[in-house]
Amino acid sequence: MAGNITLTMIKPDAVKAGNIGNILQMINNAGFKIVAMKYTQLSEAKAGEFYEVHKERPFYGELVGFMSSGPIVAAVLQKDNAVEDFRKLIGATNPAEAAEGTIRKKYATSIGENAVHGSDSDENALIEANFHFAATEMHA
Ligand code: ADP
Ligand code: MG
Repeated sequence: MAGNITLTMIKPDAVKAGNIGNILQMINNAGFKIVAMKYTQLSEAKAGEFYEVHKERPFYGELVGFMSSGPIVAAVLQKDNAVEDFRKLIGATNPAEAAEGTIRKKYATSIGENAVHGSDSDENALIEANFHFAATEMHA
């Protein structure tokens, strides 16, 4: 699957706002196939592990608290050029800078509570898919 998957999370803000269905529809309409999906909640420890790369950033504590604050939807998405195309679909990290029609433009409320996660490289997509899913839970 390497090279054509990405990992997304519908973050606690978007779940609380009732936007799971709207976001999944945008994902489907953009041509991504869902190859794994679960509704789950990260512990603080697991959220800290997922975002370990940001450990030294000033927003790390806030990010870990937010990402463990409520349920999320985690999913592995498959498409040619999945990582780059999904980053285009979600838009800039800061919704104020996100392009019209992107998921973050529509559903994010702030740079921290920004509705969705998308992997930033093929290498991290695989690491993140394996973080959330066992091999038996992915159906390419
Ligand atoms: P992206 O999710 O677009 O890849 P980053 O990897 O830079 O963005 O950051 C990871 C997550 O950390 C962001 O999606 C957001 O939830 C949070 N974050 C990033 N920058 C900030 C910030 N300046 N203040 C608060 N939270 C932030
Ligand atoms: Mg990132």
